[in-house]
Amino acid sequence: MANMEKNSLTMETFSFNRVEIDIVALQNNFQNIQQKVGSRVKVMAVVKSDAYGHGMTACARELYQVGARTFGVAEVWEGVALRRAGVRGEIIVLLGGTPETYDAIIDHNLTPVVYDIDFINGLSHTAAVKNTEARVHLKVDVGMGRLGIQPSQVETYISLIKRLPAMSLSGLLSHFPVADESEAFEKTRKQLASFKEVVARLKAKKDGPVVSHIANSAAFINFPETHLDMIRPGISLYGYFPDASPKGAKRAVPSMDLQPVMSFKTRVVQIKELEAGCGISYGHTFITSRKSRIAVLPVGYADGYQRKLSNRAEVLINGRRAPVCGRVCMNATMVDITDLPPVDVGDEVVLLGRQGGAEISADEIAQWLGTISYEVLCLFGSLNERVYLSNDQKMG
Ligand SMILES: *Cc1c(COP(=O)(O)O)cnc(C)c1O
Repeated sequence: MANMEKNSLTMETFSFNRVEIDIVALQNNFQNIQQKVGSRVKVMAVVKSDAYGHGMTACARELYQVGARTFGVAEVWEGVALRRAGVRGEIIVLLGGTPETYDAIIDHNLTPVVYDIDFINGLSHTAAVKNTEARVHLKVDVGMGRLGIQPSQVETYISLIKRLPAMSLSGLLSHFPVADESEAFEKTRKQLASFKEVVARLKAKKDGPVVSHIANSAAFINFPETHLDMIRPGISLYGYFPDASPKGAKRAVPSMDLQPVMSFKTRVVQIKELEAGCGISYGHTFITSRKSRIAVLPVGYADGYQRKLSNRAEVLINGRRAPVCGRVCMNATMVDITDLPPVDVGDEVVLLGRQGGAEISADEIAQWLGTISYEVLCLFGSLNERVYLSNDQKMG
């Protein structure tokens, strides 16, 4: 039942489990980010990887409504999907392309990140044949150890691109490895300095405008000096701080308003009253120590609610926390509701998100799983049906 971007559930496609996407929160996050960096800095909305599980085309459309005009995807096919869904604006392909994607890049007016001479030559050739011009952003590696050319190679690449008849260099970018660690400030500062030096060299050599950008969420939130011409927020658009630990741990430079966009919900399908000494689920890793009420939830690791959450996670029912007891199964999970006020079959269960005054964040789930919020969002979002809620629907 994955990846259905529509709101209309019929009885035939109905699932107990659903991921809710709060469109208003998404739009507010974008606007708050734009406000934080000021109107002279462009904001590339990073919607790669199905918008971190939130649904790429739906999120891009909603962000366009509030002013987003530049979108970041990982691969060419994602850019093509956005164009086919009618998304306008600039689409930057962060991983670049391969010769098989020349036609798609040109035909769909995508802007690839480039770092390879053969690719640059081939793309320019295709653009020339099609009587148009390819726009590209050149990637420099100032210490990430991932994609990009070395700073010393920049002149060679710029000269090459200048000589090509059907290509124009419209951007220069890099990426930080440690901008989410405040102890690594010195490293980030050095990397920024070497990137700015490259930008200056480029601007001296080239006449037209070049957009320079280096900041992901961690960098733009923690280091305002990294904003340059454009920032590339991903996780912050979806409501999370890259460096957050749960329960409001202190950050060096905190302070912007971000609201989580995704919730993951299921419902109670059975309630059982058990005596002390009863084993719960595979392996009997949980034995009731008292007379207990146990609720059965129709969600499990097949839905992304990972087995590692066994005897570890908590869920919300009627605004209260209930601990997972025993192993999480493929399609079922048990929670202990002995200490909760009466629960009924059919009651809503929040696995991720808010209920009443209580909240379980992706950061908290990530801690239970030994990972980061990014992975939790991708996981839940990609394996479950998504429902998009606007303001009216939330109130209704
Ligand atoms: C994914 C990605 C981003 C967004 O990073 P966040 O930490 O989610 O803000 C920015 N730039 C590049 C090159 C990326 O691949």
